[in-house]
Amino acid sequence: MKQITIAIDGFSSTGKSTVAKRLAKALGYVYVDSGAMYRAITLFAMRESFIREGHFDRGKLISKLTDITVSFKFNPDLGFAEVFLNGDNVEKQIRTLQVSNYVSQVATVPEVRKQLVKQQHNLGKDKGVVMDGRDIGTVVFPDAELKLFMTASAEKRAQRRYDELIERGDDVSYQEVLENVESRDLIDSTRKDSPLVMADDAVRVDNSHMSLDEQFDYILGLAKAKISE
Ligand code: C5P
Repeated sequence: MKQITIAIDGFSSTGKSTVAKRLAKALGYVYVDSGAMYRAITLFAMRESFIREGHFDRGKLISKLTDITVSFKFNPDLGFAEVFLNGDNVEKQIRTLQVSNYVSQVATVPEVRKQLVKQQHNLGKDKGVVMDGRDIGTVVFPDAELKLFMTASAEKRAQRRYDELIERGDDVSYQEVLENVESRDLIDSTRKDSPLVMADDAVRVDNSHMSLDEQFDYILGLAKAKISE
């Protein structure tokens, strides 16, 4: 059967990864969470104190980029690949609100993007991939056969992310999660290098009032149509 590339972009916490993982599983495709790669580099920068409250030494981070290896390893128990930073599993550490608060600043650095986009190209070179992020349909795979752009209201998205963080046992307030979502949207869509914009040929999916099953059925239908074209 024909293998295609599926690019899923959109604002923070729109449920891109949930639908992308399910889609990849249904099609037997590889799922790549490109946001996890930016988060892993951010965790490195935080551990080295290159970034902290009110301080970001871009130069130091850029000079250490060659020391950073981000990789994925499939975890059969979870059914998806977890992210590793220099050989250590950091899947849980990269999902904290602290990392979310810094990641969009790190993602503005062109040298960081260049390194990760190269790796993303490589991960998707054989097609049969579902990749989610902010610039997948515009920059990473502009020729992707299927491009989706996911949106939902900021309040809906913050509520979903808040519920997830509370479920994990993190001590956060709804207000700080909402502020994080809004601030990331602003930085991501106004940065110079590869801003978050909808590709001209993307399908917009506003899931404010859609259940997970409704989204999934709709998107799987779009994918199947492209595969049989
Ligand atoms: O997808 P997720 O919310 O985990 O992404 C975290 C952050 O990484 C985004 O807010 C954005 O700043 C950055 N990112 C990006 N380009 C991508 C994926 C993520 O700039 N392709």
